[in-house]
Amino acid sequence: MTCPTCEKHIGWDWLEDECIEPNEAFDCPHCDETLRYEVDEGTYLGAQHVTIEVVDD
Ligand SMILES: [Zn+2]
Repeated sequence: MTCPTCEKHIGWDWLEDECIEPNEAFDCPHCDETLRYEVDEGTYLGAQHVTIEVVDD
């Protein structure tokens, strides 16, 4: 997925290495923006829709 602030790629491998869960705030490794992602499980096609957003304090 892509950071909405710096538009750089954030890999799933990195998220797994950092043990970042959905809906948990984390800092973008590129620009330190505070972000959060949501995974919308389960269409019948098996696709996952992922949303990433900036967390407003
Ligand atoms: Zn960023």
